Amino acid sequence: MAGPRLVILGKQGAGKGTQAERLARTYGIPRISTGDIFRNAVEIGTEAGTRAKKYMDAGELVPDDVVIGVVEERLAEDDTRDGFVLDGFPRNAEQARALDEEMGADVVDLVIELEVPTEIVLRRIASRRVCLTCGAPYSLGSPPSDDWTCDVCRGRVVQREDDTEAAIKRRLDLYAERTEPLVAYYLAQDKLASIDGTGDVEAVTARLLRGIDGRLTRK
Ligand code: AMP
Repeated sequence: MAGPRLVILGKQGAGKGTQAERLARTYGIPRISTGDIFRNAVEIGTEAGTRAKKYMDAGELVPDDVVIGVVEERLAEDDTRDGFVLDGFPRNAEQARALDEEMGADVVDLVIELEVPTEIVLRRIASRRVCLTCGAPYSLGSPPSDDWTCDVCRGRVVQREDDTEAAIKRRLDLYAERTEPLVAYYLAQDKLASIDGTGDVEAVTARLLRGIDGRLTRK
């Protein structure tokens, strides 16, 4: 049976990357993170990476045409045919509309909003680390087993360059202004599931799986 086609929304530090990775593993679908795609593009020095870097460093959104192009290309790959989880896209109404228009309004089965209060996300961001090659998420509390080398792909595990105080504040403001309105957009399409993202990683995953399976079997 085909896996679900999911979008995961949430503030920076809400646990989107970690949970999207776990959902991807559970359902056997790819996790598509635009942030990871851009960080990897910067690391290897591609043209998209060069264009994206100055926006990323400032906590600003990369221009829609660049992001939408990257996502369309990624969704055209074969491994997305039986489902996917989009993490970090769409980030504003223009991107959500582009996704619906380019791929058809039923491109997504369910949009999950991972709800976590701001004081908790700030604590999580201070501790988080990421693999620059494959995007696997780590934290000071759960580091890779071998000296900041990724357990999955042996890439470099680092603190994100854009996890500075100013850039974090800017990203949280942008989330409230530009991304949060998508909750209403997907609610109107009857595709929204809001899930409590507080508590430990396992408990949140269990809540997510219950929420997703409940919603998708009812449809
Ligand atoms: P993330 O890892 O999702 O927090 O993304 C890191 C950075 O990449 C963001 O602060 C943006 O500069 C850029 N980025 C990632 N996804 C998008 C998107 N959908 N639209 C615009 N910029 C994005």
